[in-house]
Amino acid sequence: MEFIQPGSWTKALAAQAEMPAAVPLAGGTDVMVELNFGARRPPALIDLTRISELRQWGIDGNQVRLGAGVTYSQVIAKLADLLPGLALAARTVGSPQIRNRGTIGGNLGTASPAGDAHPPLLAGGAEVEIASAIGTRIVPIDEFFTGPKRNALEPGELIAAVRIPLPSGPEQFSKIGTRNAMVIAVAAFSLALRPDRHEVGTGIGSAGPTPMRAWQAERFLATALAEAGLWESRAQVPDAVAAEFGRLVAAAADPIDDVRGTAAYRRHCLSVMARRTLAWAWQDYQHAKPTSSASHDSAG
Ligand SMILES: Cc1cc2nc3c(=O)[nH]c(=O)nc-3n(C[C@H](O)[C@H](O)[C@H](O)COP(=O)(O)OP(=O)(O)OC[C@H]3O[C@@H](n4cnc5c(N)ncnc54)[C@H](O)[C@@H]3O)c2cc1C
Repeated sequence: MEFIQPGSWTKALAAQAEMPAAVPLAGGTDVMVELNFGARRPPALIDLTRISELRQWGIDGNQVRLGAGVTYSQVIAKLADLLPGLALAARTVGSPQIRNRGTIGGNLGTASPAGDAHPPLLAGGAEVEIASAIGTRIVPIDEFFTGPKRNALEPGELIAAVRIPLPSGPEQFSKIGTRNAMVIAVAAFSLALRPDRHEVGTGIGSAGPTPMRAWQAERFLATALAEAGLWESRAQVPDAVAAEFGRLVAAAADPIDDVRGTAAYRRHCLSVMARRTLAWAWQDYQHAKPTSSASHDSAG
């Protein structure tokens, strides 16, 4: 097996174009497991770890642009203020070693329905910046996951970055597992409130063939909050609204029975997590000072 170590992004794209069957390698926390178990035997690996721009992040207009090689540890240490939902999810990933090596781009590359970065990226309305030797294209995150462990990447393409709109309100994440750490989610849920646009974002993990949004639940909650004037008053969300939101989130999922849990349990988890994340996010919203926009330093 050939091991290619391009020193620049242009060289990485050229190598991927020349050998589309080569497997890109970021942190290797998924790729090395597959190689060690003999699940994959690619003709070549393209090591992306020498490409410094993949580890950069910054604010670009009204979006945070996260290079594909940004790790969970970086998100937790540097981006918790800017991307609170993603940082909460990152804290639940694996162990410190996995968080130090594992990248957001690698999570997207694997496209597991259980990938923990996916629910907050869905809830936050992210876009994936995909590059090849011939150009760049942007794919909305809800069109990126095309099936179980399948994504919208075409041969010769690499993930350059993920672009996430600057949050205008609280974000929350919740994950159910069989223990507290080093666990694949039985089900996960992320919620983003966008008071500036009176919108709600959701992301469901581990409860369908792909990570997904609960579209109907989003519309229901946004409308219920608007009709009761709650975006402005910040008064308590009625229990009936929270319960219906939970029901709609559970109904949006498409779970299966497997070794980690039954479909019925996953739906139950989702309805509970939806209500809880709404309660936490609404509490954050009630306690937050109404501000126009925050300013943040960008770094890499
Ligand atoms: C012990 C252990 C615990 C784990 N716990 C969790 C967990 O709790 N939650 C969770 O979500 N995941 C978990 N994982 C899975 C893994 O750590 C994550 O999916 C991680 O984000 C993968 O990132 P990576 O940089 O290591 O990817 P890699 O293994 O390097 O790559 C993963 C896939 O993405 C592709 N890829 C990488 N970068 C790019 C790019 N720029 N462009 C195109 N394709 C690319 C690779 O070719 C490969 O197909 C765990 C893994 C292990 C071994």
